Amino acid sequence: MMEKAPINWTNMLLFSITPAAAVTLVPLYGYFYGYDLYEWLVFVAMMGFCGLSITAGYHRMWSHKTYKAHPVLRFIYALGGACALQNDVMHWASGHRRHHQFVDNDEHDPYSASRGFWFSHIGWILRDYKSGRTDFSNIKDIQQDPIAVWQHKHYLKLVLLTNIGLPALLGYLHGDVIASLLLAGLLRLVLSQHVTYLINSIAHMWGRQTYSDQSSARDNPVLALITYGEGYHNFHHTFQWDYRNGVRWWHFDPTKWMIRMLSWVGLTRDLKRTNPAQVETARLKMQYQQATARLEDNNLPEHWREKLEQEYEQFLKLLQQWNEQRQAWYEAKGKRIQETLAHWERIQVRDRYRELQFQVKVQKRRWREMLRNLSDPLLLPA
Ligand SMILES: [Zn+2]
Ligand SMILES: [Zn+2]
Repeated sequence: MMEKAPINWTNMLLFSITPAAAVTLVPLYGYFYGYDLYEWLVFVAMMGFCGLSITAGYHRMWSHKTYKAHPVLRFIYALGGACALQNDVMHWASGHRRHHQFVDNDEHDPYSASRGFWFSHIGWILRDYKSGRTDFSNIKDIQQDPIAVWQHKHYLKLVLLTNIGLPALLGYLHGDVIASLLLAGLLRLVLSQHVTYLINSIAHMWGRQTYSDQSSARDNPVLALITYGEGYHNFHHTFQWDYRNGVRWWHFDPTKWMIRMLSWVGLTRDLKRTNPAQVETARLKMQYQQATARLEDNNLPEHWREKLEQEYEQFLKLLQQWNEQRQAWYEAKGKRIQETLAHWERIQVRDRYRELQFQVKVQKRRWREMLRNLSDPLLLPA
């Protein structure tokens, strides 16, 4: 049993009063006076402002350094982060880096999922647990960022300005300060906080372990829909330096799309991506592991196990070749024609790379078909 840590009264009051007020005052005011389209639009805009400042700013930029951002953008993130009221970026990133380093370790992971849903969702904030103590030794780089320093210094003022001042101003301009304070202030605050906390709770409980089973982190595409793409949490814990969480182009990850689009106008740069062969290899290994377990559970014939292994080895080797050829092609692309490589040699490298890429596709289709058969033993030949 863990010790009962002392209650953090500031947080306890904040996280009790704001939701209680939100579920009573917001509908009451709506019932008697109603909210109009403008007020809902301000609410949605401020949800996005806070949410994306946390996911793209606090999380992917400051905590994980997956890309670099222009000072103007960092300034906006600092404001949005204060508006989300999830502590300043130094506390947030320091805790989050520890979460990755010691994931699921009850003593060191500040929101360890193995301590249960409640703890990882919000319980860790309500008491001063030892696992949550402040230790800035892991954020020396962030302490060098003047914008993070500025936010740290003026955090409380920024919180009040963005949470009360901004909604009040936007409401005043429209002629109803209270409605704006309730929707864009209160309801937005409560919702945006719990949306973030769902990543620490649900994304460590429900979903698939697509790339690794080394931690409790899961890929949950449904959760991605309300968390600006952060639901692909197994990918994120496996490849935390990647600016994407949803790795496929069609994965719903608005944070990734925003970071990418901002790079076109120079507000972000040096976006880090994981080598695709590395991603495929991690996925293949997990699938192989799961398929072998299924074979054993169902007592399937030995020659199927051999077939699976053979196919797996072949696929692994192909991925490795593909990766090597990809590197060769990127190198060739970078060199000037008059240098070492003649034009036709370059074409050769490119064609070999494309050929391998095609082979990977074909192999992948075969592998998937095989896994499908394995999950339905009736389809297996005798
Ligand atoms: Zn992270
Ligand atoms: Zn996590």
